[in-house]
Amino acid sequence: MDILTNIDVIRQDFPILTQRVHNRPLVYLDNAATTQKPWSVIQKIEEGYTKQNANVHRGVHFLSQMATEAHEAARVTVQQFLGAAHAHEIIFTRGTTESINLVAASFGETFLKQGDEVIVSEMEHHSNIVPWQLLQQRKGIIIKVIPFNEAGELDLQAYASLFSDRTKLVAVNHVSNVLGTINPVQQIIQIAHHNNVPVLIDGAQSVPHIAVNVQELDADFYVFSGHKIYGPTGIGVLYGKEKWLDAMVPYQGGGEMIAQVSFEKTTFNELPYKFEAGTPDFIGSTALAEAIRYVQNIGMDQIAAYETYLLNYATDKLQQLGDVRFFGTSSHKSAVISMQVGNIHHYDMGTLLDKLGIALRTGHHCAQPIMQHFGIEGTLRASFALYNTTQEIDALVAGIQRVKQLF
Ligand code: PLP
Repeated sequence: MDILTNIDVIRQDFPILTQRVHNRPLVYLDNAATTQKPWSVIQKIEEGYTKQNANVHRGVHFLSQMATEAHEAARVTVQQFLGAAHAHEIIFTRGTTESINLVAASFGETFLKQGDEVIVSEMEHHSNIVPWQLLQQRKGIIIKVIPFNEAGELDLQAYASLFSDRTKLVAVNHVSNVLGTINPVQQIIQIAHHNNVPVLIDGAQSVPHIAVNVQELDADFYVFSGHKIYGPTGIGVLYGKEKWLDAMVPYQGGGEMIAQVSFEKTTFNELPYKFEAGTPDFIGSTALAEAIRYVQNIGMDQIAAYETYLLNYATDKLQQLGDVRFFGTSSHKSAVISMQVGNIHHYDMGTLLDKLGIALRTGHHCAQPIMQHFGIEGTLRASFALYNTTQEIDALVAGIQRVKQLF
């Protein structure tokens, strides 16, 4: 579907967008933090609670079977969306953060010993740094860091030189939530595999914006959050290759994840249930599948092209302001703009823009090492989604001009 010619219809799918904030039309440009939800997703959640709410997997009764079928169908939707080989390679989690913690805990427990090395990058979200640091405290592993250049691009030569015979995993994001850089993950994976090292890709900022195929990438783990792709909060995905998931110890213990329990010996369930202890978010999974159908109906390539158009339009307009410093200027970029306007503090700018109904994010964006790289405290960040418009970008630019006059 061509988004530009259908933008009015698309915007009607998102009820929150008609809201007024401080008596102005809402201009929502904080999509990297979370996205708004279309009616179809909201209705799916309502339908889940009004028509098919019953616990999954355990019941012989009608409602339980319906709920189970919907939950498992959602898994297949995610599998096909990511291009995974098997539905049982899709583990439902609470989100990107939990998916990475799961791998750090289970892969770490199974495969890592004191002195082993994990490679991450300097542009990771805290959720792809701190789980490895916790593992460092528990097991004495070593964390190595791929640096990035002034444009916000990873230094692949430095990356290739980080490998040693103790390297056990590489964990990097596909798209930076601050710099917007689309990292060359295919090349990153090839280099790691050449060294016999598996790779985890944090897809929190890629899956909503560009087409992803985990088999084509040959990713060993790929993770994302439902709420950043027009789906509900509290549900996310861990894709893992069967060979790794099979070999890894369970993450949490409880119901669902067992085959047989006695006080003498407990055996674990098969994939994916081995990693899904307790009652899963079966309403969330079906609503996430609905969100995936929503973006599939529009087309991931159309979404990527439209968001690139928004990115170029916004970058041009902001550049014309003359005193905007951009953080992240790679030519291979997703629709995220981190900036500093003159010497106006990002927090002041964000607060005053809010008074004009414009929602941006300010601060370190859970990526403090990026701030340390540039020697700054934070940035003002505009991040775009498929429902944003050039008129909204004009409103942002006019808003920034107004705040500048105030100062
Ligand atoms: N990784 C990246 C690149 C992100 O942008 C985010 C959230 O902003 C996360 C991980 C964490 O996602 P969540 O809070 O949904 O677990």
